[in-house]
Order: sequence, then structure tokens, then C-alpha cells
Amino acid sequence: MSDFHTLSTEELHEYRFRLQEQYNRFRSQKLKLDMSRGKPSPEQLDLANEMLGLIRSGDDFLAKNGVDTRNYGGLEGIPEAKELFAPMLEVHPEEIIIGGNSSLNMMHDTIARAMLHGVCDSEIPWAKLPVVKFLAPAPGYDRHFAICELFGIEMITIDMLPDGPDMDTVERLVSEDEAIKGIWCVPRYSNPEGITYSDEVVDRLASMKTKAGDFRIFWDDAYAVHHLTDRPASLKNILTACKEAGNPNRVFLFGSTSKISFSGSGVAMMASSQGNLDWTRKLLSAETIGPDKINQLRHVRFFKSLDGIMEHMARHAAILRPKFERVLEILDSELGGKSIASWSRPQGGYFISLNTLDGCAKAVVEMAAGAGVVLTKAGATYPYGIDPRDRNIRLAPSYPSMEELTTAIQVLCLCVQLVSINKLLK
Ligand code: PLP
Repeated sequence: MSDFHTLSTEELHEYRFRLQEQYNRFRSQKLKLDMSRGKPSPEQLDLANEMLGLIRSGDDFLAKNGVDTRNYGGLEGIPEAKELFAPMLEVHPEEIIIGGNSSLNMMHDTIARAMLHGVCDSEIPWAKLPVVKFLAPAPGYDRHFAICELFGIEMITIDMLPDGPDMDTVERLVSEDEAIKGIWCVPRYSNPEGITYSDEVVDRLASMKTKAGDFRIFWDDAYAVHHLTDRPASLKNILTACKEAGNPNRVFLFGSTSKISFSGSGVAMMASSQGNLDWTRKLLSAETIGPDKINQLRHVRFFKSLDGIMEHMARHAAILRPKFERVLEILDSELGGKSIASWSRPQGGYFISLNTLDGCAKAVVEMAAGAGVVLTKAGATYPYGIDPRDRNIRLAPSYPSMEELTTAIQVLCLCVQLVSINKLLK
């Protein structure tokens, strides 16, 4: 099939008629397929089941510093969990705090603390300022944006380029506006485009001049070890870059095992400079007596080392890769050459990002829902849920079975074509 833009009105009408018939056939099947969230499949979760049996009554529950993991204490996690996870974020064990089950929780709380108390080098708590702004590279992760909305932090959308956020704009804005206190970054296999930031972008973020003296980068390395190929993307170390640029307190790093062990029952972590960690510990000690150390011990016993984590991630990749390939095959065969959509080809992470013609994403998501295929809400990948070009759709191939995935993407492709033809015929 050729470029839709070269077809005559008659040809488009005729083609639409055939597509509509196919769509109606899917509709009559009363499908119930959900591709909306990036969750691991049951098969992936099974990979870590053995962990559940690793701590039994009669076992030794002591961490290596003698702390009884069943009891209170150990605000920042057990030492062996720090040693296990520090290399995953490429930091030293003394630069990491091991928390509870959710890195999003740690990000939320870090912002809440900054709003109420400021960060270690703030003059006043952020919430006492007339306005607080964050830069939000988009498309990005909807739950980051939700945190900003919750705290009334104004978001400024920054375009994502193939090697990270548009740094010319970032540098200009942060140098001019004191109210800009932070930026969200998913630097490796970004959600949803699968982009990994270039060394140049990392260096520019670390060294740029900011008008706010207490500006922070929220570096959400959620997909640090989530490679789909055997050629892992390399990401320059931001903490080192910030130290070298003379801005040691600029970055908070976050990560978790949510998509390594169990989503919602994994282990989360944050890393930063000593200045930031001291400040965090002080405030954290009023918030909790300590995290779930038994779960940390379970993770240490199961994974043992970063090599253990990497071997485990290779087993995840073996399940995920064919699903990503299937989605890409169908997108290529159904939409390729028609000039109505473009899509990412991620080397890791959890998502494929699809761009339709401008003004079509909402209609595509609605039409797919009409045939029983639930996609991530159009607009979700932009601040305030508003995609200015109404074109981005995040596809999450991990959870459905191969058969469900195949059907869901076929339906999606029909919808993209139908909505595009409707637009072209207007
Ligand atoms: N950060 C990103 C970029 C994500 O995509 C997700 C989940 O999809 C999370 C954080 C959630 O992490 P956690 O389960 O550790 O709270």
C-alpha cells in the first residue's frame, strides 16, 4: 500500500470501506484487551518466585552488621542491599539509601520534603515561594507529572530529541527563571520513547548555570538494567558529572526492582551526594523507623550480585524481546510506507512510542476502546494530560500474551488507518 497522501479521494473511500469491515469483525468478537500500563507479565513475575522461599522460620535473619531484619532500625537499609544495588545505579554504597517498595514513593516524598522544608541548600521551603516550576521533557512518564500537579508545581514542557531533552531550551530557561527548581529525567530507555541520553546531554545538565541555587535533577533510572538486546545502552554517570562540574548536590537518582523482581513488592532506592543524603536522613527519621529489611534480605539472597541481577534481566529480555518484535513487525507491515504514523524501536525499557498524524491520537484511542482494546489515554505522556499535537500513544507490550498482543496491535493499526483517512478526507 502506498503513501496515503498520494491516494485519490475515491481510493481513500474504497480503502476505508474495507478497513471498516475488518474493524467491525473485531468489534463483534467482544475483545477485552488491556495494553495501557507497563506491567510485567505473570510469566516474568514467575522468574523470581524462588525468592519467596528464601526466608523461612528457623533461618538466620541477621544482616551482616548484626541488625535483626525482623526488628526496628536501619533507617537507610541493610548494608548488603546497599552493596547489591549501588552498582546498579553506578554509585558507591555510602551514596545510596535503600527504601521501601516504590521509587515513585521516594520521588514523591523527596518533592514533598523540598516543598515543606526545602533541599539542603535552599534559602526557604519551596512551598513558601510564590511559584515553583519544573521542566517536564515530554513525551514522558505520567506519574511524574501527577506529582507536580498534586503539589501545584507548574510544568514547562520540553521537547524530547533523539538524545535527550532539548538542552538549548533547558539551558536558556533555567538560566533565566529562578522559579524553575527541577527537571524530570528518565535517562535510560525513557518512558515512553526508549531514548538514552547522550554524554553531551548528561554533561550539559550537570554543568548548566541555573538561576535557582537549589535546582535539582530528578534522575529516574527506572530502566537501568532493562536491556532488550545484548548491546546495553551506555549512560554517562550523572552523579560524577555533577561533582566534576562543581554541582555535587544537583541530582537525586532513583531506581527500583519493580520490573526486576516483583512490581509493588520490590525494593526501591535513591542515591545522591552526602549533603543531600544527610538532609534526607534527618527528615526521613521523623517519617519512618525504617524500611522492610526482610524484603531487602530476600532480594540480596536471591540476586547475590549485580551479575546475578544481569542474568535475571536476560531471562526477562528473552520473554519481552519477542513481544516487542511482534509489535514492530505488525506496525511495519500495516502502517509502514503510508506516511500516517511513526514509531520508536527501543533497545530496552517497557514501551514503544507511536506518533499518529497531528490531531489523531485521541480518536485512535477511542476507536480502539470501541473494539475492546484499552490503550494508555492519549495525552497521558504530556504535562496536564494535554498533548499539544494530539499525536502520541504509548504502547505497553509486556503484559498481554503474544496472541492478545497480536490482536490488540492489529486493531490499533486499523484504527490508525481509519482515523487518518477520516482526517485526510476532511
Ligand atoms: N519510573 C518510571 C519511569 C516508570 O516507568 C515506573 C513504572 O512504570 C516507575 C518509576 C515506578 O516505579 P516504582 O514501582 O519503583 O514506584
